[in-house]
Amino acid sequence: MKHPLKCPNCSDYRYIEYQGVRFKDHEAKKGIIVKIPFFVCKTCGKKDSILPRERFLSFRDEILPSIHDGEFFDMPLKYVFSKLDSEKRFKKFDHLNFQYDSRDYYIIPGLYREWDEGYLTPVFFDKDLLLYYNGHPDYTVKFTSFSSCNIYYKGESMFDWGFGINRYGKLFKWLGDLDRDFKDDDMKPHLKRFQASNLPSDHEIVSKFYLSQNPFSPSDAFQSSDNETKLFSLKNEFNKEIIEKMEVELTKVNIEQLAEYYKPPILEEREQIFSAYLSLNKYFIENLQEQSLREILLKCGLKKDNLQKNGMKLGSLKLFTLFIEHGLNKENANKIVAPLFVLNDLRQLHGHLSDASFEKTYNSCKERLEIPLSSTDLGVFKALVTRLILLYQSLIDKKYD
Ligand SMILES: [Zn+2]
Repeated sequence: MKHPLKCPNCSDYRYIEYQGVRFKDHEAKKGIIVKIPFFVCKTCGKKDSILPRERFLSFRDEILPSIHDGEFFDMPLKYVFSKLDSEKRFKKFDHLNFQYDSRDYYIIPGLYREWDEGYLTPVFFDKDLLLYYNGHPDYTVKFTSFSSCNIYYKGESMFDWGFGINRYGKLFKWLGDLDRDFKDDDMKPHLKRFQASNLPSDHEIVSKFYLSQNPFSPSDAFQSSDNETKLFSLKNEFNKEIIEKMEVELTKVNIEQLAEYYKPPILEEREQIFSAYLSLNKYFIENLQEQSLREILLKCGLKKDNLQKNGMKLGSLKLFTLFIEHGLNKENANKIVAPLFVLNDLRQLHGHLSDASFEKTYNSCKERLEIPLSSTDLGVFKALVTRLILLYQSLIDKKYD
């Protein structure tokens, strides 16, 4: 079954937006204005009412006799659909003191459960909630994908289900899960922190977190990772394959150990994002064993002259490019390895964030990633990680779908 949030035109996931609509009498002299929810596709522009139009029309006809000519009444949605009351609270969760929009629970596909009212209502938080935990020595924040994450205390996950991250960059959790998460007394200080970062609903929940927990088809349920978590596991896989095939260790330090210390960028904040490039550069480029690469390349029949230029030894990235071409027998080695050169350039920009030359090199990185120059820092980061994932997928023999 096609996911109901998918646009029937273009298959992109739609947004839910409330917009004011006038329901008028035939001469348009009087009527009502109701803010009603629409499915809105931002890709192709298609807009559909979520609720049946007939119900609004019959409600208008009922109410018209009590409206004077020339008047238009603003009518809260709850008068037309009693359950869709923006003020409605789910009593059993009141002690948590979170703001949320109970209408989300009835309108967002897949959340309504007759037997467990309100459980899957999304509660939204600012991403800055994660900064405290990411900076604290006892806690870590791990992003299992670009749209899901969890907090860990001394290596143990703090929450069974973690968080979703919507397309506006807000965190969310289900109201019922929050109730379970904050049952114990020792969780109360955390509850305060969550309350302080609690935001009003923007009705947006499209994320791997939501799709996998509320699947409308088997492909919704199995959401594979798309971020650094995926990248680290692919790099691991690649190293293992090379050891099995060529009996050589390409990296100095095991990436699994390095990934334990990795701090992902959390906010749209330049310093954080460029610090992450430093880490990724360490794991993927500085970590390459130049000596091993040289030995393999000599075994592949290259001469010492091929491994230097103008009397200077080739650096690790150039050696790795030769390895892809001669060791793994891939065509287009330069094209395959290109995202690693972009990473290397981004790493070098880290110390020059306010230099005049920054923009020029940064723009060249964006061009090579084939993304618009107007992309945000986090947008560039995501594009780079996506390209690095494709790079390692293309080097590994095992097939990925
Ligand atoms: Zn569309």
